[in-house]
Amino acid sequence: MSGTPHAASETIAPLDDPAGTLLALDFDGTLAHIVDDPARAYVHPESIAALGRLGTILGGITIITGRPVAQALELGGFEGLRGLERLTIHGQYGAEHWDAASTQALSAQRPTEISTLAERLPGILQQLGAGAARIEDKGLALAVHTRGLDAELIGHLERPLRQVADDFGLRLEPGRQVIELRSGTVDKGTALRQVVADLQARTVVFAGDDLGDLPAFDAVDALRADGVRGVLVCSASAEQDALVSRSDLVLQGPDAVAEWLTGWADALGV
Ligand SMILES: [Mg+2]
Repeated sequence: MSGTPHAASETIAPLDDPAGTLLALDFDGTLAHIVDDPARAYVHPESIAALGRLGTILGGITIITGRPVAQALELGGFEGLRGLERLTIHGQYGAEHWDAASTQALSAQRPTEISTLAERLPGILQQLGAGAARIEDKGLALAVHTRGLDAELIGHLERPLRQVADDFGLRLEPGRQVIELRSGTVDKGTALRQVVADLQARTVVFAGDDLGDLPAFDAVDALRADGVRGVLVCSASAEQDALVSRSDLVLQGPDAVAEWLTGWADALGV
């Protein structure tokens, strides 16, 4: 999608075969701005409007997020929206699933390791000098929100928390302003591959902003080798540039993502 000159519409997103195209999106940092209080994040209104338009023509739209499904639904306002009758959401990196058609949510069982660690984590953070970090219990993960902490301290947290994750048989998921400890047989890559297989998508467009999206980028690369057309989109930020060099399209954050989705819907004439 880069290099040689294209017509403007061609550079937006694939326009042929919309029925065979899956659009998969991360939530925070991609559809929604990262905000101080994660409970106050919201999806860019233009993105919601564009998704409602794209949903009438694309083969599928799915949101793959680290958030629990219930949070993504509450903050996203997707439920009952016209055009999103077939939307699916994969929460907690794919451990939870929801689809708009049935409005049923399926979730993995909370592992006992998470319950045990939930009790001990405040003390562990205290010992690490990070007692001020806010802990969010997501059910299948514990998120340590680091916004507002001293940058040097944040830099020193990852290694001991990785050890804690190892001790509890969990995986560490570092992200923008957050370090998560979660149970982990699934990641965004497994979730994405499942949706592509379910829909038998011939084209997959994935947009993300953070390290947790890398497995989905890997999945798209693997799917390309299997003959699926892949388009990788980065919602870029000053906090994370790991996805930039691997992306076909680099957008400057959720505002630019909203503009891109709107342009895609315009180009498809929906
Ligand atoms: Mg994100």
